[in-house]
Amino acid sequence: MAGDFDIEKGVRFGKWLHDQVTEEVHIETESWALDRVRSVSDRLQTGRAEHQRLDVLVPWFSEPTAFTAPGNHIYFGRRLFERCATDEQAAFVIAHEIAHHDLGHVDLFSDVGDRLIKLPGARFFALAFHVLEARLYGPERECDADRCGLDLCLAAGFNGRRCLKLFDILEQIALYAGDEDVVYGPDVESDNELAPDADWKTKAKIWLWQKRRGYLPIRDRKEVLLTHLKDRERALKPWRASRRKAARIT
Ligand SMILES: [Zn+2]
Repeated sequence: MAGDFDIEKGVRFGKWLHDQVTEEVHIETESWALDRVRSVSDRLQTGRAEHQRLDVLVPWFSEPTAFTAPGNHIYFGRRLFERCATDEQAAFVIAHEIAHHDLGHVDLFSDVGDRLIKLPGARFFALAFHVLEARLYGPERECDADRCGLDLCLAAGFNGRRCLKLFDILEQIALYAGDEDVVYGPDVESDNELAPDADWKTKAKIWLWQKRRGYLPIRDRKEVLLTHLKDRERALKPWRASRRKAARIT
């Protein structure tokens, strides 16, 4: 699998991480959950060769989280999965993680992988992997994975606006945990702090904030994606218009 690497002779990083997680945490076996995850991830990965496909596991992490790594697994935490009331919300979670592979972000782990596995409490590290992932990628790559993930959802025929309802769940989780900053970001007045044309001061503020927190403000992520979705819908309009015209002619 692209992005994976040997941590010692014959042992791949992705396999090591997978073993740490599965030894420490129960992996969901209920068919209702697995069937749903499989049908959504199959739909997102239609047309990909078998060796390029990512396998989605649902571990019972205590945190409502999802992450991926070099190798061929996506870890979709059970507590986040159970809050996804619709297939579209689950699809966005999985698509965002697939996007980290498609965009080559997981390659970044090869620089730090061999140091990571030697850390004391490497097993604990595996469980806190999502925090490290966010820090390693940074806000730009996270936004890229959001956009690319949304495109994957649209290509698979999922409704984009319903996919973005995932952010309402993330917001509820953060507010329940008493974390208003992660919802609103450094500027509570603005939901547009991640826009590509935001001024440099805003970008610097976000960068510093994200550096400190390791996360991006949820409202701003959603705002960026709504703009992206509107652009996609606008690009589709000529096709829709010509179809309507054709329908009138016949
Ligand atoms: Zn991510």
